[in-house]
Amino acid sequence: MSWEENVRRVVPYVPGEQPKQKGIIKLNTNENPYPPAPGVERRLKEIDYSALRLYPDTDAGVLAEELAAYYNLKPSQIFVGVGSDDVISMAFLTFFHSDKPVLFPDITYSFYDVWADLYRIPYKLCPLDGDFRIKTEDYRQENGGIIFPNPNAPTGVLESVDMVEEILKANPEVVVIVDEAYIDFGGESCLPLLSRYENLLVVQTFSKSRSMAGMRIGFAMGNEKLIRYLNDVKFSFNSYTMNLPAQLLGAEAVRDKDYFVKTCGKIMETREWVKGELRKLGFHFPDSQANFLFAAHKTMSGKEIFAALRERGIYVRHWDKPRIKDYLRITIGTREEMDKLLEALTEIVTK
Ligand SMILES: *Cc1c(COP(=O)(O)O)cnc(C)c1O
Repeated sequence: MSWEENVRRVVPYVPGEQPKQKGIIKLNTNENPYPPAPGVERRLKEIDYSALRLYPDTDAGVLAEELAAYYNLKPSQIFVGVGSDDVISMAFLTFFHSDKPVLFPDITYSFYDVWADLYRIPYKLCPLDGDFRIKTEDYRQENGGIIFPNPNAPTGVLESVDMVEEILKANPEVVVIVDEAYIDFGGESCLPLLSRYENLLVVQTFSKSRSMAGMRIGFAMGNEKLIRYLNDVKFSFNSYTMNLPAQLLGAEAVRDKDYFVKTCGKIMETREWVKGELRKLGFHFPDSQANFLFAAHKTMSGKEIFAALRERGIYVRHWDKPRIKDYLRITIGTREEMDKLLEALTEIVTK
């Protein structure tokens, strides 16, 4: 027997590429093209450097309080983590502890099956319909928990709060996690359901709508009991996760609602314009309510377009997987970046 038989082997999640070269138009990881709120820069410069000597607040109190005020909740209903990847990973470990399979869509955030495999949680994929929509009847079977993003990734398809409620009504015996990483780009959050469903956990992130992917801030909202269970697991794993600057700067970002609304609005406006331009070029896509489009061309393969864009220094995301291999997930950047993308695509598809 070799020591290797005792290794916990996993097939890791593959994040989008972070290119080292300059001048790349980076539309492959759904980052926000605008900088964080101006107050964040000011606060960054004022951070008391000697305070870094100390361990940070394990509850990220300043940040939790700011988020609680913003979303009209109690600080004890907020769980903060190092990106929502950290939050969702802890939620898998905490709430998906059953022999029955956890349910999520077949086309979805590709980290879910990785966490399930990592923690040895059984899971079952529920195929989206032909329009990439969730079939609620799939979520009426026996299960050990449910998770899906809304809007979904990488499709951008938004489901209604009523649909989320239908799934909650049918599943009072498990925790239902709604990953709202992209909800701020025109979707309606299911947060109002929190007061009526104690098994609902809503997860959001600063990485997309709040322009702070590099700071690594994510959070979950739920009833106090749910958050307590999550904290018990977190404190059994690593109590000092979020560093002091992230706590202070995250809180600062939440204070500037105007900037947040304005930048999300600009991205939505650019998205709607790009939709029209892409259609003219022969692309089709589900109607995204996120900061990206999931587009396929009527004649050219996804792989071909992906490679041709890459050659021109434009990075988008492509998965060589059944059902979606002809689609490209294109992040909405600035108007100028999208102009360059459309110029390149025009060349590529009309050559
Ligand atoms: C980007 C993303 C996340 C994770 O983002 P963090 O940077 O870890 O906060 C989670 N879920 C979905 C669906 C995402 O697209």
